[in-house]
Amino acid sequence: MSDAPIVSIVKSNLPLDQSTITTMVGDAINLIGGMDQFVKKGQTVVIKPNLFAPYPPPISVDRRVIGALVSLCVAAGAKKVTVIEGVSVGTLMKRVNIDASNNRDTLIRGIKTVDMMRLLGVKSAVEDAGGDICGIEDVETCNLSVNGGKVLHSLDYPKIIQDSDVFINLPALKTHTMTLVTLGIKNLQGILTEADRYFGHRDDIDQHLVDILKVRKPDLTLVDGLIAMEGMGAGEGGTPLPMGLVLAGADTVAVDSVCTRVMGIDNPMIVNTTRIAAHDGLGIADPGQIKVAGESVAAVRKKFQLPLNYTQPIDTLVTGAYPNVDVYIGGACSSCWLMAAGVLMNISKIQEGASLIVGRDPKVPPGKDWDLKNTFFLGDCALGCAGEVQEIRNKITLKGYDTFLYGCLPYQQASLKLEKILMARGIITKEELIEKAKSSRQKLFDYYKEFDPTWAPEP
Ligand code: SF4
Repeated sequence: MSDAPIVSIVKSNLPLDQSTITTMVGDAINLIGGMDQFVKKGQTVVIKPNLFAPYPPPISVDRRVIGALVSLCVAAGAKKVTVIEGVSVGTLMKRVNIDASNNRDTLIRGIKTVDMMRLLGVKSAVEDAGGDICGIEDVETCNLSVNGGKVLHSLDYPKIIQDSDVFINLPALKTHTMTLVTLGIKNLQGILTEADRYFGHRDDIDQHLVDILKVRKPDLTLVDGLIAMEGMGAGEGGTPLPMGLVLAGADTVAVDSVCTRVMGIDNPMIVNTTRIAAHDGLGIADPGQIKVAGESVAAVRKKFQLPLNYTQPIDTLVTGAYPNVDVYIGGACSSCWLMAAGVLMNISKIQEGASLIVGRDPKVPPGKDWDLKNTFFLGDCALGCAGEVQEIRNKITLKGYDTFLYGCLPYQQASLKLEKILMARGIITKEELIEKAKSSRQKLFDYYKEFDPTWAPEP
């Protein structure tokens, strides 16, 4: 047991002020050996928090946790501390930029990482603590091969992380519709370039994430579990769950394993990234081989609501889920099932009814009289079909419609295209999308302000 990785758990009651949070972060690190074990005088440190969308906790890591961590690195003698992040593909491509869209005729989407950090107050928190910020999209990358990578063989890696003496991983404690949980391993996806991130969301996402860990394992993983997230995370669809926790460890896999149990999942091996990372020799996932310091798992554990697609068959969200939409799905991988569940919410807004075709040569009724304008194809597999399905596609093209939601996986680009189609038909409007984004943002802002009255979005 002496070589067992240690994962610390520190708890305080919410709401918390900056000084208590700084103490919690310090205590969590002291329980695993102290900051001196990780940061030495004169070293360069890079911290990668989870800040993928322009919303405060629990979507993003709390700026006060980031500030506390930067201060501790500076106090340990770090020469330079840089906080780096890349907003998600959804934020770059699809999330409505409310401030930029205000008083304009067009809908502006996307926000740059550094602008988001400013809005959330992360920039000030980091700079006040003696660090700097930067966005992944603004830094130099180097092409590295992934030693032992199974699905990711090479990647464009931020040079600043590659060159740093110390790499600190700073995820939040959340559920995730694609990976069940998003913790230390999933947080690493944010260091990829936009293209690598986009295509990393296929059904091999878990191995993809584990392969990123093979390039450089973080020296320290600290988890912000002050306000966690349950349900349909890790974005606006999730539900905040106050926990008042900070966890830390040097072994990212062990940290994820303990966090999973804290989230009420007794067997951490059901999380694919944790199981695969342990299998690939990147850390310890077996709870029996991990030492927990500070609070016990049992003392802080809460049963998190898991994403719907993990608690009921995905079919229930796709086939027969909407009375006005017929779904023809066959030979589709789990990614397209999940994407279908997403696009169906919008397709179902077509009052007169619609059809959705998904997968590789799904069976369709021969000779059916299709309503071509309202027949949608989802994913490159469906678009590459032969036979009857190809005939339908040809007929749609000849009629001059474009209801083809391309992609493998058909991710943000597909839902963006669908939104544009529905907007062009007046089924959804630009104003509606802006209003929806505004009310969702307001809800998140108001919620977080209850826990941190000192916070206000920075213009
Ligand atoms: S297009 Fe095909 S392979 Fe790609 S995500 Fe869809 S079903 Fe899977």
